[in-house]
Amino acid sequence: MRIAILSRNKNIYSTRRLIEAAEQRGHEVRVLDVLRCYMNVVSHRPNIHYRGQEVPPVDAVIPRIGASVTFYGTAVLRQFEMMGVYPLNESVAISRSRDKLRALQLLARKGLGLPVTGFAHKPDDVQDLIEMVGGAPLVIKLLEGTQGIGVVLAETRKAAESVIEAFMGLKANILVQEFIAEAGGADIRCFVIGDKVVAAMKRQGKEGEFRSNLHRGGSATLIRITPEERATAVRAAQTIGLNVAGVDLLRSNHGPLVMEVNSSPGLEGIETATGKDIAGMIVDLIEKNVKRHGAAKTRTRGKG
Ligand code: ADP
Ligand code: MG
Repeated sequence: MRIAILSRNKNIYSTRRLIEAAEQRGHEVRVLDVLRCYMNVVSHRPNIHYRGQEVPPVDAVIPRIGASVTFYGTAVLRQFEMMGVYPLNESVAISRSRDKLRALQLLARKGLGLPVTGFAHKPDDVQDLIEMVGGAPLVIKLLEGTQGIGVVLAETRKAAESVIEAFMGLKANILVQEFIAEAGGADIRCFVIGDKVVAAMKRQGKEGEFRSNLHRGGSATLIRITPEERATAVRAAQTIGLNVAGVDLLRSNHGPLVMEVNSSPGLEGIETATGKDIAGMIVDLIEKNVKRHGAAKTRTRGKG
């Protein structure tokens, strides 16, 4: 097969591993910087150009689109979809996962466990918003944040009120969420490929930190997850429409709660923690799906 990887940097771990796994299996790989792709939007033979030349036909595309380039990145991916190329993750599913509120609404609709979450644009009554999610302590999140930046724990009602008002003054979109204290500063990253959790790790925030992000100094260890956690992670990925996803769960007193579904989960942490060949499993899934469906039979086609 010929496989294109949409990635801004071919030297980062995840991209290197995907190239390696694909080449090991005899595929031809090309890395395209998504921001340097340009295209013509036409109904007859749409194509993509790169550095002055048309991109030769490929069978599959692996989107590794960073949060900061979601808008243009998904447009390029849509163009590949219009050309009949199999996308590992579809543009619509990526857009859903990048909008935390949209993702949570989809998950809630399917009855998946979530922390109680409130969302507001310009509430006249911040007190009532705080009440809605059960009062302090609570977590306030910037809607477009990643890597733990923009996630704040407000321990008291007063603190919550000030932080919410400050964010609103900056015209930032936020969500307000019940704080799951019993998670103990840890979460569980479930790596979903197809309809399976192929690897899981526990991430523990450093001493005194409630955020478990590895970028914030958290550490990862191998963990065994329960059948309920496994089923929850797979359903969450399927609800968003992702073939490959990093589903983050919080262990609460009343079962697993879905916190986030990532559409370009990093490979370094999970491969290091589990010793598994995740990149290889991703390429295996592409082989299976391209063979089975041919191209372009995408699941969310036409749906928002
Ligand atoms: P980001 O997209 O920036 O990673 P997250 O929503 O994943 O934002 O939050 C970052 C971290 O903060 C999580 O990995 C988790 O450890 C902690 N966290 C987030 N929300 C909650 C919550 N409602 N209760 C307890 N801990 C939370
Ligand atoms: Mg996160």
